[in-house]
Amino acid sequence: MAKTPPRPFTVIARQQLTPHMLRLTLGGEGMRDFPADQPSAHIKLVFPTEGEARDRMRTYTVRDQRDDQIDVDFVLHDDSGPAASWAAEAQPGDEILVAGPGPVKRLPEDADWNLLVGDMTSLPAISANLERLPAHAVGHVIIEVASDADRQTLDLPEGIALDYRINPHPGSDSDLLLNAVRALDWPAGKPGIWVACEFSAMRKLRRHLIDDRGVDKRAMYISSYWKLGSNEDGHRVVKQEDAVSDAESA
Ligand SMILES: Cc1cc2nc3c(=O)[nH]c(=O)nc-3n(C[C@H](O)[C@H](O)[C@H](O)COP(=O)(O)OP(=O)(O)OC[C@H]3O[C@@H](n4cnc5c(N)ncnc54)[C@H](O)[C@@H]3O)c2cc1C
Repeated sequence: MAKTPPRPFTVIARQQLTPHMLRLTLGGEGMRDFPADQPSAHIKLVFPTEGEARDRMRTYTVRDQRDDQIDVDFVLHDDSGPAASWAAEAQPGDEILVAGPGPVKRLPEDADWNLLVGDMTSLPAISANLERLPAHAVGHVIIEVASDADRQTLDLPEGIALDYRINPHPGSDSDLLLNAVRALDWPAGKPGIWVACEFSAMRKLRRHLIDDRGVDKRAMYISSYWKLGSNEDGHRVVKQEDAVSDAESA
């Protein structure tokens, strides 16, 4: 994450994309020196609630960007923390501090085919990646959403098959994405793999991709974006421990 101090942004617009996904468009002073072409990069939003700055900070994705605005898509989950609660109430004119962006998280450009797997928290980054694929790209995208109505129409090449899986209780079924990936006929050639979802689901997918599909873990992007029952700070600790034990078991 860049060391620039958090920039002040203003909520410009809100749009309910689907029942569990809200888009907030942010702009204002913070856009003055915000770098160009950041869709898929993460940012840290510092929410104007009580408490230490670190406890009020949550990680989101630049879903889209124009000269003077960025779009950020928020999952509205029931287990509300500061981010989902703030977003649900945010109105044009409200202010928010935004740190970052961190590096963009893009698919490799030299893959023969692509596999993108995620849940609603990574749908913004997956969408940004799909929009940047060349028209001839082929592959699969598998996304877990909370309801039929949460399926978004995505701008993707004809050769990419889109498979939505429904789970009304996010985080409750860590096999859902795994089973969908297991069922794939694995195309020949070099895959470009991009995976981000709930922690337990990510771990199962990582084992499957490495052990059963023979994917070199350095050749894929795989990350957990949240953990059922942990707030972002708790998730960060578990994620660091997991990275150490995964490195040791390699
Ligand atoms: C690199 C990166 C990019 C991300 N981009 C996005 C993004 O663009 N949009 C987005 O919505 N999220 C995104 N996330 C996930 C987001 O940071 C977490 O969901 C975060 O925990 C939400 O903060 P909160 O304050 O709402 O809940 P927290 O205070 O962190 O957690 C409170 C409770 O809510 C539960 N919870 C948290 N998130 C969810 C969820 N999605 N579904 C169900 N229960 C949940 C937790 O398990 C916990 O019990 C991203 C995460 C990372 C690491």
